[in-house]
Amino acid sequence: MFILNNDINHQPCICCSGKAYQDCCLPFHLKNVYPETAEKLMRSRFSAFQLQLKDYLLESWSEATRPASIAFTPGLNWLKLEINGRKKGRKKDKEGWVTFVAHYKQDGVSGSLHEKSFFKRNQLGHWQYIDGEIK
Ligand SMILES: [Zn+2]
Repeated sequence: MFILNNDINHQPCICCSGKAYQDCCLPFHLKNVYPETAEKLMRSRFSAFQLQLKDYLLESWSEATRPASIAFTPGLNWLKLEINGRKKGRKKDKEGWVTFVAHYKQDGVSGSLHEKSFFKRNQLGHWQYIDGEIK
C-alpha cells in the first residue's frame, strides 16, 4: 500500500486537523482503529478522497447508500477541509451530522463543496457515511 512507504506519514494531515497524518487519519485508513466520532470519520473520508483510497471510502459508506464503485476525477485535488458545524456524532451517539466546506482545485481552477453529511453507526458500532445534503 503506497501510504506505508510514503513521507506523508510525518506531514500535516490532509484533513487539516493540525496533527501529522500518522497521528490522525492513517490509523483509520489502515483499519487499526475506527473513528470514535462522526467528525473523525468525515475527516478520514476527506483525506481518503485525496489519497484515492477506494476501499476505505466504500467500507466507511453505508451498504444501503454506497455506490458500486468510486471513480476519482483526474486532475482534481482536495486541498482543505473546514468543519463548520456538528450535531451529535459523539462517542455516545448513534447518529450524527457534520457540516463542512471542502476546498479543491481542478485543473488549476479553485472550487468548494458545501455539504451537510449524515452518519450512523453500523451493527459493529463503526461510524458510516449515509448521505449528504449539498448546501
Ligand atoms: Zn486527518
